[in-house]
Amino acid sequence: MTFDLRDLYQEVIVDHNRNPKNFGKMENATRVAEGYNPLCGDKLHLYLKTDNDRIDDVSFDGTGCAISVASASLMTEALKGKTFSEAEQIFRDFHKLVTQDVSLQDSTMQQLGKLAVLAGVREFPTRVKCATLCWHTLHSILEGTETTVSTE
Ligand code: ZN
Repeated sequence: MTFDLRDLYQEVIVDHNRNPKNFGKMENATRVAEGYNPLCGDKLHLYLKTDNDRIDDVSFDGTGCAISVASASLMTEALKGKTFSEAEQIFRDFHKLVTQDVSLQDSTMQQLGKLAVLAGVREFPTRVKCATLCWHTLHSILEGTETTVSTE
């Protein structure tokens, strides 16, 4: 890595990378998708247990950089119990947060909660792909196109 990531490595990111939440294969998953970010080498599997259009449980495994692992960890925490449309809304807001230099409404920031710590990646375009890989993978599950997702 040629740039300085210190500003990005906030406490929450470091913590979620070291001790990712909901990490591990889910044996009784109803939906599975794989995501791959060739730029960085991040690879993950996302496992969902769904009930109609609700996400009852979610986990992930794989290997990747701190940003991709922390982002997936934070995402799984944010998704449990959400409906597909709520999850898609969080995805849209999160995508805005990490790609656009705009201030989001307070209510949106409240919805995003801890996901907001990843806002710093917008300064690093290649890191945006790391932070959004898990979300693109989720999107493919919700859309029903469960193939390998590449950020390219
Ligand atoms: Zn990465």
